[in-house]
Amino acid sequence: MNIRKTIALVAHDNRKSDLVEWVQYNWKRLQGHRLVCTGTTGKLVSQAFAAKSQATGDVIPEILRMKSGPLGGDQQLGAMIAEGKVDIMVFLWDPMEPQPHDVDVRALERIAVLYNIPYASNRATADFLISSELFLADYHPVRKDYEEYIHRSIQHLGR
Ligand code: PGA
Repeated sequence: MNIRKTIALVAHDNRKSDLVEWVQYNWKRLQGHRLVCTGTTGKLVSQAFAAKSQATGDVIPEILRMKSGPLGGDQQLGAMIAEGKVDIMVFLWDPMEPQPHDVDVRALERIAVLYNIPYASNRATADFLISSELFLADYHPVRKDYEEYIHRSIQHLGR
């Protein structure tokens, strides 16, 4: 059975054409899933799907658009991951140009690693992810148990 997933898609400006090409190549596989994107990436992904659906008559998947990445969109995605609302992330970040919101970019990567969601930061890994048989399965990533951390004792004010 094809289990519906929530897939986060984000790309920095120099990687947006890569992501759009990837979406166009994989649009059949992405059908039936829910996409959640940062603002500008989401606009381009929606346009790519609209063009495909005009040509084929296929239904456009649900695409949820957050704020633009530098305006808080990365943090919104990070919050969704922390709440268990994202199954997979493809985040094509730019290794050649500094970003004004680099701290947000690193925070989003960190939270993806913390919650152990499948995360691709380049097209080759995104290809492996989407062609994995686990992409279609009811897969729940193992989460590290942080109970000990949550209940750690804090020494405060010398008491
Ligand atoms: P954008 O944000 O899709 O709004 O351009 C991407 C990012 O930099 O996180």
